[in-house]
Amino acid sequence: MAKNSAVYVGLGSNLDNPIHQVKQALLALDAIPATHLRAHSALYRSKPLGPQNQPDYINAVAVLATQLPPLTLLSELQAIENKQGRVRATERWGPRTLDLDMLLYDNKQLQGPRLTLPHPGLHERAFVLYPLCEIAPDLVLPDGQRANDLRQRCSALGLSKNPMS
Ligand code: ATP
Ligand code: CA
Ligand code: CA
Repeated sequence: MAKNSAVYVGLGSNLDNPIHQVKQALLALDAIPATHLRAHSALYRSKPLGPQNQPDYINAVAVLATQLPPLTLLSELQAIENKQGRVRATERWGPRTLDLDMLLYDNKQLQGPRLTLPHPGLHERAFVLYPLCEIAPDLVLPDGQRANDLRQRCSALGLSKNPMS
């Protein structure tokens, strides 16, 4: 039997009913071939990175068990973004219906043209670290740092758990 890898995925949306978008994406993650959704965090609301003239985000983190290699899984994540109406704008960190970031793939560390692991924003983003530690409180990153230590150093200002729609 092929080996299962543990993959953490960060979900974000701030357009077209973001709570619905994130819930829909969780179902879509579970439907990826050779992949299962093992757990997901609560939903969080956060202030946007970059341009502030856009709506707040809804975020969550999911953990998958997958037999797909990293780049194949990345293509599956991008197909879900596209299916849920993601338009690739030129503006960095602009509003989007769905963003799926591959945060961690087992303990892999890589820097390729399409994929960097761990995701470069992971260490410093409250909207990633708080939901991540909710589902994996003892997680140790490939560089040996504890995710929970990073979370404690990261301000939760502007982040709220279980937002109403
Ligand atoms: P950020 O990556 O800072 O959160 P973003 O999510 O807005 O910004 P995107 O426009 O969604 O950035 O992605 C740009 C490119 O990043 C993608 O085309 C993808 O190839 C690349 N990429 C590199 N590493 C990853 C990763 N770990 N997860 C998802 N995409 C990645
Ligand atoms: Ca992102
Ligand atoms: Ca992304």
